[in-house]
Amino acid sequence: QYSEELEKKLNYDQLTGAYNRRAYDKRIEEEMARFLRYGTQFSLLLIDADKFKLINDNYGHAIGDKCLQEIIKRSIPLLRTNDMLARYGGEEFMVIMPETETEGAKEAAEKIRQTIEKIEFLYKKDKVKVTVSIGVSQSKKGDKNHQQIFERADIAVYQAKEKGRNRVLVN
Ligand code: GH3
Ligand code: MG
Ligand code: MG
Repeated sequence: QYSEELEKKLNYDQLTGAYNRRAYDKRIEEEMARFLRYGTQFSLLLIDADKFKLINDNYGHAIGDKCLQEIIKRSIPLLRTNDMLARYGGEEFMVIMPETETEGAKEAAEKIRQTIEKIEFLYKKDKVKVTVSIGVSQSKKGDKNHQQIFERADIAVYQAKEKGRNRVLVN
């Protein structure tokens, strides 16, 4: 029982219950190795909460934290059992989608985006809303490491932000 708890602490994020960065790093290495050896495709989603600093500034960190928890809680049911949702950093999440091509990944991302924009909290008399920008990328021939695939998703997020946020972009 003790080692089970230890394992949880090691692999899961305390705040949201999602997998943590450590678990992501391990899984992405495995997924990349599979791709390099057998050509098994996978896709990545990089989910970044929009204007999150403003949510904290306007409503406080507790509400910000609740938004992050809600983002995870609502996203998990939209994913497949083999997909991995991990908290990559502060308000950034990664989804690893094995055996998934861009089209399927984009569909999943769009579902997540639409689900999250419907989240609403009451803070005093204000309605708190949160949206996300999502970058989608897929493993492709010639990729040597997972960082290259991450980088494409990161660029897609950047473009989504530039285009006005609350959208999904593929790169
Ligand atoms: P953008 O739409 O461009 O992504 O704007 P942003 O404000 O989300 O981006 P920025 O990177 O400037 O700010 C991220 C914010 O996320 C700042 C930080 O305080 C907040 N944040 C990160 N981790 C947590 C957390 O665990 N809890 C709370 N409440 N806020 C967090
Ligand atoms: Mg960010
Ligand atoms: Mg952000």
